[in-house]
Amino acid sequence: MHCPFCSAEDTKVIDSRLVTGGDQVRRRRECLTCGDRFTTFEVAELVMPRIIKRDGSREPFNEDKLRAGLQRALEKRPVSVEAIEAAVNQVKHSLRTQGDREVSARLLGEQVMDVLRGLDEVAYVRFASVYRDFKNVSEFQDEIARLSNPPGTDAPAERS
Ligand SMILES: [Zn+2]
Repeated sequence: MHCPFCSAEDTKVIDSRLVTGGDQVRRRRECLTCGDRFTTFEVAELVMPRIIKRDGSREPFNEDKLRAGLQRALEKRPVSVEAIEAAVNQVKHSLRTQGDREVSARLLGEQVMDVLRGLDEVAYVRFASVYRDFKNVSEFQDEIARLSNPPGTDAPAERS
């Protein structure tokens, strides 16, 4: 790449190492013309699917929007910034592993609910109430009942 100082075309890599747990490569480069050194970071570009909205229009996946939605649901909850970041990454990972170029906003919402459910139940119910557009208290109660009694976790039959 071009030298950022003198714009010469030839620079050489003098050091290369993995950083942030191997997700990035940090390179020290030296300009062959002016001798100045600079650093570059290389990361894999992972393409996120586009989101199909309810009205059928498409929009690019927006990580900031996802993070903001999680933060809103988790407001004043005892959940760390690190845990929120992990949740963002978890949602992104599951969207990418779908392998589809487009996913519905509904599916994205379900993924977010899955993640929130494991993170904080209050945040989960908050998000679900907005997302599923609960019409009344009984829908709320149904959701909470589902939460305390998830499918497939029925108490095992007692043995005599
Ligand atoms: Zn230079």
